[in-house]
Amino acid sequence: MRKRKTRINSVNMILFCVLFSLIMVVYHQVYWPLFLFVTIVGCIGFTRVLIKQKLQLRLKKSGIEDILQMDGFQFEHYLATLFRDNGYAVKVTSARGDFGADLLLSKDGKKIAVQAKRYIKPVGIKAVQEVIAAATYYKTNESWVVATNSFTKSAKVLAHASEVKLIDKENLISMILKMNPEANEVASNTLKKIKPKDIRCKKCGGVMSVKKGKYGNFYGCSHYPRCTHTQKVGS
Ligand SMILES: [Zn+2]
Repeated sequence: MRKRKTRINSVNMILFCVLFSLIMVVYHQVYWPLFLFVTIVGCIGFTRVLIKQKLQLRLKKSGIEDILQMDGFQFEHYLATLFRDNGYAVKVTSARGDFGADLLLSKDGKKIAVQAKRYIKPVGIKAVQEVIAAATYYKTNESWVVATNSFTKSAKVLAHASEVKLIDKENLISMILKMNPEANEVASNTLKKIKPKDIRCKKCGGVMSVKKGKYGNFYGCSHYPRCTHTQKVGS
């Protein structure tokens, strides 16, 4: 709502600038410094609106909104589909008790161990340590941590020293769009077809399931209303 309002305000401002400039020119009563000032302000406003629209389109095309609604299990499957569509051979390892890798990718004789982190907080050093262990165990050429958030400083330091590739939310959006400009469909299909994994309620041990809420998806306890415990998806 706020974003939309800002956009309308910017458009109004540009229209005002254009009209004002036109009136000045038509009536030859141009006080040129003012005319120049108004034109510059108008151009800046117009460019800002264009950039904003382009960024919004980019987010929409990447399907990131749907990705942020996924749980860890769905996110792994989403990444598996994305890489498979791009010619990678993909093994989802987490179902069988992994050695620090959620996905094993291979393409053109190169093997990559991937940790997928659908987190609502910045991803810490543990994810990097795990993927390093996985790279050793599976004898991969590269190791990546793909996250829907940023990374902590210690995670970055260790990743840099160990040549682990960190893909944060921004990098993920760029990677998705590069791999598949229509990726928003892959994301929405994954969300529809793959059921989130059951997790247990920390208060009563009941099964938590994904519910739709006003502010996005969340886990709610099956013993509701007896138990009102909720948990954020991705925590
Ligand atoms: Zn409960």
